[in-house]
Amino acid sequence: MSEPLIEIKDLTKVYGSGITKSQNVLVALQDFELTIPEKPSKIIAIAGESGSGKSTLANLVLGLTIPTSGQIFFRGQEISKMNRKQRTDITRHVQAVFQDPYSVYNPFYQVKHIFDITIKNFKLANNRDQENDLIEEALNMVGLQSQEVLHKFPHQLSGGQRQRLMVARAYLLKPDLIVADEPVSMVDASLRATILDIMQHLRDDRGISILYITHDLSTAYQIADEIYLLYQGSTVEGGEVTDVINNPKHPYVQQLINSIPDINRKWSGEITALDDEQHRSRSDSGCRFYNRCSKRMDHCLVKKPVLKPFEGSDHLVACHLYSDPPD
Ligand code: SF4
Repeated sequence: MSEPLIEIKDLTKVYGSGITKSQNVLVALQDFELTIPEKPSKIIAIAGESGSGKSTLANLVLGLTIPTSGQIFFRGQEISKMNRKQRTDITRHVQAVFQDPYSVYNPFYQVKHIFDITIKNFKLANNRDQENDLIEEALNMVGLQSQEVLHKFPHQLSGGQRQRLMVARAYLLKPDLIVADEPVSMVDASLRATILDIMQHLRDDRGISILYITHDLSTAYQIADEIYLLYQGSTVEGGEVTDVINNPKHPYVQQLINSIPDINRKWSGEITALDDEQHRSRSDSGCRFYNRCSKRMDHCLVKKPVLKPFEGSDHLVACHLYSDPPD
């Protein structure tokens, strides 16, 4: 069996430091695990409210921040042990699309510049014709024409055009994985559908997997194969998207799903905190959802639930309700 494309083991990111353990310390992500296979390509949604750790995960996978502990493997090779050249190669295979496309552009350059720079940096073309063909193919992939966008400045484009150009720029490199961090949260409904379609097309026809970071369960349900829900830095539930959304097990996920009127329609709500966000410390004891949970038991306060298969299936849940006797 071939190595997975990406394997994430026990990934933890802690920000800050303090004399005592809880002082100025934020556990942004804790013991996160995920495997993205080489084939078939998949869309894997990472969902959670603001501050749940999903963007920290995106930044760790993209190498924009260093893990406190744990490992990320790319085709069996641990990324933190790679040399500079190997890491540069990884950026070709793992590309990013961010929430706010405007911030990625240099306002003083026509948008063609971002394609020229990418082609030059990664030596994608030997001559001008090849370069033009590559750009044309990438633009066609996202439904844009070169004459309508390439010679414009970023402020002359719509938000949807800017975001589609970001997807086209990522596609230029023919990556194996695109990390898409809230790619549709700043575009209107019709463009949201277009970008979601493009993501599905990239998976189905171009063999590109997508790590889809989102606060929107409806779009995750629409396009993802798998979903993992984070709560205060830990995965509380995950598995096939239909299993998790149609039959949620964790009380937190049940609350979220119950708050959505119709999962097949655009849900105007967001995953939001029901109470004031609890302060997260390095503490390993107890369930972090305890204060909000209507099904809590005494031992939930002292023993942290572990992510385990539900009844031997691929559906994972971290909750003492499904441990008999409680572990
Ligand atoms: Fe609720 Fe206990 Fe499950 Fe946490 S472990 S979600 S407190 S039942």
